[in-house]
Amino acid sequence: MATFKEFRNNVKPNWCPGCGDFSVQAAIQRAAANVGLEPEQLAVISGIGCSGRISGYINAYGLHGIHGRSLPIAQGVKLANRELTVIASGGDGDGFAIGMGHTVHAIRRNLDITYIVMDNQIYGLTKGQTSPRSAEGFKTKSTPEGSIETTLSPLEIALSAGATFVAQSFSSDLKQLTSMIEQGLSHKGFSLINVFSPCVTFNKVNTYDWFKENVVNLEQFPDYDPSNRVAAMTKIMETNGMLTGLIYQNKQRQSYEDLAVGFRSEALAKQDIKLSREEFDKL
Ligand code: SF4
Ligand code: MG
Repeated sequence: MATFKEFRNNVKPNWCPGCGDFSVQAAIQRAAANVGLEPEQLAVISGIGCSGRISGYINAYGLHGIHGRSLPIAQGVKLANRELTVIASGGDGDGFAIGMGHTVHAIRRNLDITYIVMDNQIYGLTKGQTSPRSAEGFKTKSTPEGSIETTLSPLEIALSAGATFVAQSFSSDLKQLTSMIEQGLSHKGFSLINVFSPCVTFNKVNTYDWFKENVVNLEQFPDYDPSNRVAAMTKIMETNGMLTGLIYQNKQRQSYEDLAVGFRSEALAKQDIKLSREEFDKL
């Protein structure tokens, strides 16, 4: 069985020292090993941004795609080879600005892939512009007077789009983050894991200390029930989106692959089950 070190290749990450993305990479490696994967059973597909480089640093199949398009590629990979475990990854700009249309529809499509967003609330690769996740009043070169737009809430959007797995974590909490990724990989359907991953170079507001002070760990609420969608939405709103842990999981809904006619008939063919035309049409 592969160890987490076997999911590391020999490419040296060129993230800035202290960038949260290092921990996200470590958590992906640990989670992949902990759920019993081998490197050749995993594909990591990323978009554009500092975080998008992650697919080049993990010893697995990988593709560093184009801006905002990690999800169409990841879904194509999964549909072409259902045996692969597929992780899509990228930043908040990649997934929640240019890629938001894909994100919403991938969520409601519910293919069995895990989407890990490294949310630093800024555009890091292009040297610090306001992102959809930046707070109102956030000042950068693109909003020198402070952002006047509402901050986008990916957790609320995911829940309202019919997500079957929504989690959030913080790159400093490696134990929780690894557990969330493990649970996402084990979930049969689309898993969104939003990760607060500080940009130490350009975001001087949402720092490690700021996140430590502001995250609200779900462990504080022992009676919280992650299968209750209304409670999940309420708790997200009550905590201003700073909740970490497994926020929502629907284990009942089947994944896209299990519902798609072509795949189901293919699976039946593998088992040498012959269907009449009438039976086939009912699939
Ligand atoms: Fe990380 Fe920010 Fe440096 Fe990019 S610019 S590598 S997000 S710290
Ligand atoms: Mg970003």
